[in-house]
Amino acid sequence: MKIQYDPNGKQPQSRLLAKTLKGILNVSLVAVISATLFTALPATGIGFKSPLFQPGQNTGESFGSETPVVTLRVGLVVGHWGHDVGAICPESLGGFREVDINYTIADLTRQYLQSEGVNVDLLKEFDEQLTGYKGDALISIHADTCEYIPELGTGYKIAEAVDNKRPEQAARLMACLNNRYGSITGLRYDHRITPDMTSYHAFSEVDPNTPAVIIETGYMNQDRELLTKNPSLVARGITAGIMCYLNREEISPE
Ligand SMILES: [Zn+2]
Repeated sequence: MKIQYDPNGKQPQSRLLAKTLKGILNVSLVAVISATLFTALPATGIGFKSPLFQPGQNTGESFGSETPVVTLRVGLVVGHWGHDVGAICPESLGGFREVDINYTIADLTRQYLQSEGVNVDLLKEFDEQLTGYKGDALISIHADTCEYIPELGTGYKIAEAVDNKRPEQAARLMACLNNRYGSITGLRYDHRITPDMTSYHAFSEVDPNTPAVIIETGYMNQDRELLTKNPSLVARGITAGIMCYLNREEISPE
């Protein structure tokens, strides 16, 4: 985790310009989405008929005899991508860099979600698209330190955006991820959530209606085997958690 962002760096100017452009893009994007959702036209080109339930869009209204055309969209932030390398393992432990682990896991998750018919945006740590990001969910993927922690240096952590305007959705996204990720990877849940997770920068950047969570997929020291040799299992766990949320699947108690 641990991200240092230099506010005096050269990013703000380009970010401001991008923000303006993004605003224009957002307006047209909203128009496209609104048209897709409310006209219930048969899907052509960009849309498709999804059997999936759209959280928050279920107004219970009927759109005539047509099935509403719904396109689900999920943002995946590749922790540290485009910014720094994150945690690093010493050469004696393989020299792994957190950003590479995060990228492999996020890219596999993207593929699995797309095969479920979900649109996915793979985003950099400080991606300009994060400003006002509108989606059904945003998940930031990180991994924990490679330092050796004698006791309990294993497990995954999840934190949610607390200022979200749809706290019940964010809580459900977190519960789904927690349940599915834990059961698929077999990792224990680590309750030691740090302030850099709860005050994660992207939480205040995305649209407040987009439920957002950050996951630390495991420790690069003691969970290294899973993270580096079996990233597909890690990605399956994240995908199952997201699909549980999107499909409103039941969460069985652990
Ligand atoms: Zn990280």
